[in-house]
Amino acid sequence: MPIEKRLSFTYEGETYRIEGVKVFRCDHCGEEIITAEEIRRMEKVARQKMESQFTGKFILRVSPDLHQRLSQMARKNRRSLNQEVASRLEESLG
Ligand SMILES: [Zn+2]
Repeated sequence: MPIEKRLSFTYEGETYRIEGVKVFRCDHCGEEIITAEEIRRMEKVARQKMESQFTGKFILRVSPDLHQRLSQMARKNRRSLNQEVASRLEESLG
């Protein structure tokens, strides 16, 4: 019977903690074995965790001076601070 463990799993360069991973232990040498099917399940869970991170919302920390300058530019361009910053980021990434 497998035991269930919480494991760290690296997927596309990011490490995710996966709960309830079924791990078999060899009766002879004690080596822990994870089936290919369980690894595929871990990949699927990691992919779902990765995708759910990108909601389009995050907190950005900048200096008070930059905050003020961006706010002034937004007013000048008749758009929200959010639109101002998003537009500038889009432009910089091309
Ligand atoms: Zn063994």
